[in-house]
Amino acid sequence: MITQTKNMVEAKWWEPFEKDKILCTLCPRYCKIGEGQPGFCYIRQNHSGKLYTTGYGHPTGFAIDPIEKKPLNHFLPGTSVLSFGTAGCNLGCRFCQNWSISKAKLDELNSTKATPEDVVRLAQKYNTPSIAYTYNDPTIFGEYVIDISKIAQEENIKSVMVTAGYIDKEARKEVYKYIDAANVDLKAFTEKFYFRQTFSHLNDVLDTLIWLKNETDVWFEITTLLIPDENDSPEEIKNECDWILKNLGDSIPLHFTAFHPDFRMTNKESTPAKTLNRSREIAQSMGIKFCYVGNIHDTEGQTTYCPACKEALIKRDWHDVYSNKIKEGKCFNCGATIHGVF
Ligand code: SF4
Repeated sequence: MITQTKNMVEAKWWEPFEKDKILCTLCPRYCKIGEGQPGFCYIRQNHSGKLYTTGYGHPTGFAIDPIEKKPLNHFLPGTSVLSFGTAGCNLGCRFCQNWSISKAKLDELNSTKATPEDVVRLAQKYNTPSIAYTYNDPTIFGEYVIDISKIAQEENIKSVMVTAGYIDKEARKEVYKYIDAANVDLKAFTEKFYFRQTFSHLNDVLDTLIWLKNETDVWFEITTLLIPDENDSPEEIKNECDWILKNLGDSIPLHFTAFHPDFRMTNKESTPAKTLNRSREIAQSMGIKFCYVGNIHDTEGQTTYCPACKEALIKRDWHDVYSNKIKEGKCFNCGATIHGVF
């Protein structure tokens, strides 16, 4: 039961904690929030001993994006997706590429008002087969995600999480109940990077990936934003690919995308194309079947090839799809199954 007070909706996933504090149990940060204070993500706040979310019903604006922009290359390729986020974020990435949204407090932005029904109606109006919870991390507005995705499912519209995967083990069961697909940022493959550059922890994200693979039907792909001299060494890429192969298998698409200097990391150059290509070659040589480069123009690095007969199946450039020869989830040439939702 949700209690509406002014612009806030009572949150799920919390419990009373010492004196007048609240323990938020939505993500592994487990903020202990004093009276009148927000948690780290800003949009979850303690008022009179209850936790409220100011994100519920307050998107920061809508866009119609290609699904390839999420990026998802094996989920309804060539279709558009209604996309939105809210203010705030539960990570503190120094290199955030969306910081004007994720670091904003709700009162600093012109957020709009939209009920879950409004959001689904908007998707119907623009005829998008899916809705993406994106731009900031949708984990923090999980209550809103659940209510929208439930109605969307009833209307045969799919739901997509674009997330860092930093979410509590119990809360994720509810947040992902009606979710069809996800792109999970695996931001690096060292705890040192996670701790210093994102203020979160690698193992929690790996745990979410294993859970998605073993306990859900959610189609998911992985993105690693490569930052020069931070997380792009061949050794780290090998370790990441080795972990993926051992824990998730060889058919989860992996995207290596280019960083540009932003927010608190402006002392770095943009990622050169050769670093993306080198990383893709490493992944492919180790046995990852579908590996892509992103945020650059590279038709070769963005094409889906049949892992069996090597035929080019989906040709792309940046977010544009030029041809799609997958027939009912199979290669048109040899009939091999191509993993994904087509
Ligand atoms: S969801 Fe927000 S308030 Fe809750 S623990 Fe995570 S960062 Fe803190």
